[in-house]
Amino acid sequence: MGTHHGQVLCIIRDEGPQSRAALARRSKLSPTTLTHVTAQLLRDGVVAECDIVESTGVGRPGQTIKLIPEAFHVAGIHLGAGLVQIVITDLYANVKASASFDFSLRETDPDNVVSHAADMLLRLRREAGDPRLLGVGVAVPGPVNAEQRSILASINTGWRNLPLASMFETKTALPVILEHNVSSMALAEVRYGTGRGVPAVLYVYLRTGLGAGLVVDGMPFRPGGHGAVELGHIQISRDGPLCSCGNHGCLESYVNESVLMRAVGLEGQAPNNLLERLEATDTWTPTLDRLTDSLAIAINLLTPDLIILGGHLGEAPDSLFGHLLQNLPPRVMPHMREVLRIERSGFGPLSGAIGGAAVALDHFFYSGARS
Ligand SMILES: [Zn+2]
Repeated sequence: MGTHHGQVLCIIRDEGPQSRAALARRSKLSPTTLTHVTAQLLRDGVVAECDIVESTGVGRPGQTIKLIPEAFHVAGIHLGAGLVQIVITDLYANVKASASFDFSLRETDPDNVVSHAADMLLRLRREAGDPRLLGVGVAVPGPVNAEQRSILASINTGWRNLPLASMFETKTALPVILEHNVSSMALAEVRYGTGRGVPAVLYVYLRTGLGAGLVVDGMPFRPGGHGAVELGHIQISRDGPLCSCGNHGCLESYVNESVLMRAVGLEGQAPNNLLERLEATDTWTPTLDRLTDSLAIAINLLTPDLIILGGHLGEAPDSLFGHLLQNLPPRVMPHMREVLRIERSGFGPLSGAIGGAAVALDHFFYSGARS
């Protein structure tokens, strides 16, 4: 396979079954090249000719080419803070099998975490009937290097410059690619979810901390080749609480899981409806105000067309969305006021692992990289 194959597969993924004429028009490939590419994809069993015959009214109707979603599979892993989630998906990122385990943030030996995750993935594959996996995408809790092989830093686990891709490859014998976890979630929404066809999507994720990821024109935004969109570390008060990053008064020092748990009088594992409980406390209004202040800055700097809220924010009461939709527009540039949309994540609790699968699909299949 090569880039032409990837180009044709992306068109079918994004726009549905296509006639050869439409594929030639959309891909701008020569008829000879397109014939060669579709013949190879048909031989590989990745696409099939549809029986449905669609007349365009011009000339004779032709057969269309459709993707076979279960021709291959990938795995996605989310290394969250204290929680690892694993999925096996088809070529449309539909989850076929999933598993998860908790680990203590006080015992974050990366070899143990990777070994446990790799063993669970291999067991999940066996239980799912041994589907052929093209590769693994790992959504990690921090920025990754330009080659997407190492995590550069993770505040919650203390990992620095850790070659996680090689570590997973050794344990699984599968090719592995890494991506920042919230960027992975944003990518999954852009390719397969609420953000399809949207030019700039900002994903904001609240769990242990408050993270964000931006996808622009279908590509995760990695300023400097490896950076991340650190919305949680916008300083909103110079003399505020000490943040996990070492600064004071970051958004995340006010809006994080443990602070909000304390506000609702809970300890231990966070419930699914954490923000619903918070709505009844005095912390609710300042939390909304801090989120609004920080999101207004992010919108003016990054001009997203769509903001997707995930984690606890994705399960927040409607009143949070109402507050943001009422209070953000006056705070952002006029051209952003009309177009701004705010939606909940469509992938729920598995969004990080599905994000990892989306990264794997991009890298090992839709790029045409599959050998
Ligand atoms: Zn900070």
